[in-house]
Amino acid sequence: MPNQFQAYQINKTEAGQTCELKQLDDTDLMDGDVTVKVEYSTLNYKDGLALTGKSSVVRTFPLTPGVDFAGTVISSEHANFSTGDRVVLNGFGVGEVHSGGYAQKARVNGDWLIQLPDGLNTRQAMAIGTAGYTSMLCVIALENHGIRPDDGDILVTGAAGGVGSVAVAIMNKLGYRVVATTGRMEEKDYLSRLGAADVLERADFAAKAKPLYKELWAGAIDVAGGNTLANVLSQIKYGGAVAACGLAESIELPTSVAPFILRGITLYGVDSVRVSLDKRVHAWGRLAQDLDLKLLEDLSFELDFADLPRAAEDILAGRIRGRAIIRIPD
Ligand code: NDP
Repeated sequence: MPNQFQAYQINKTEAGQTCELKQLDDTDLMDGDVTVKVEYSTLNYKDGLALTGKSSVVRTFPLTPGVDFAGTVISSEHANFSTGDRVVLNGFGVGEVHSGGYAQKARVNGDWLIQLPDGLNTRQAMAIGTAGYTSMLCVIALENHGIRPDDGDILVTGAAGGVGSVAVAIMNKLGYRVVATTGRMEEKDYLSRLGAADVLERADFAAKAKPLYKELWAGAIDVAGGNTLANVLSQIKYGGAVAACGLAESIELPTSVAPFILRGITLYGVDSVRVSLDKRVHAWGRLAQDLDLKLLEDLSFELDFADLPRAAEDILAGRIRGRAIIRIPD
């Protein structure tokens, strides 16, 4: 591996944030005890915000964005990793305050890495990526609540997006009847292939929510927030739960206490960034086991490194279907 490597770099100037593909060298690597040859990264919603500067995701400058990556260890001073190990990383502020996956090389704290689980290669790991791993955290939250397939349907919002697509596929494989919502009804066949038994219009969830509505869902996974989440909460069956991880519609939650105090429902907040290593290892292991890897081909597609700036606009505009894998050139 030459001393020089390609990387996107975000800088802050008086005119605002800039993002350029640059030639860096090893002196530009950040502190850490493991250096990784990055093979694949992905495009998550948060990366779209970082690359475009539309939200202050990046808080250290200069910085290479990319909140996740998978690759092979080049060198390690960490007891748990050796040269040649295949690893995956997401969260821990990588791509936000520590340089991340949009580079041929990354140096990170080994405590943030996990060994790639058996059965997944680096490309598959990034087809899943932070979005898919967050889906699994949401699934686990509903399971831990005690929701079982016999309890009723599971609603997944924003289903044609990254988190939503993987959530539909996992829940279906686990035997749940899954109902998907989407603003892109042209993706109905795609969602059916992933395992959605029914597909509803996103618009049905867009109006201001009533405190309570008919009890429809045993549980739900929500990526939208806003009126969508408020409507979902008002439709959860007695004792059910929602795992909420996103704000694709809004950071607001215009709801009331009614579904909580009259139906005993629970709202779980799901965070993927600071979750403990144990839970990460468990979630990645579950993904290797409970996600139909053949479906990964349908729900993901590959982008070239050079496509990132355009694709960042696309993900913020809701034009990306499923998961975008970024192939890092050798
Ligand atoms: P994507 O852009 O791939 O998917 C988001 C989906 O949300 C879109 O595809 C669309 O689905 C739906 N959507 C978009 N705009 C709206 C709207 N105005 N109202 C309702 N639905 C909308 O993003 P990801 O799946 O990667 O991420 C989804 C959310 O989860 C983001 O907010 C992201 O920041 C968050 N997230 C949070 C994590 C955490 O740690 N808590 C980790 C990962 C993601 P459709 O076209 O089907 O309607």
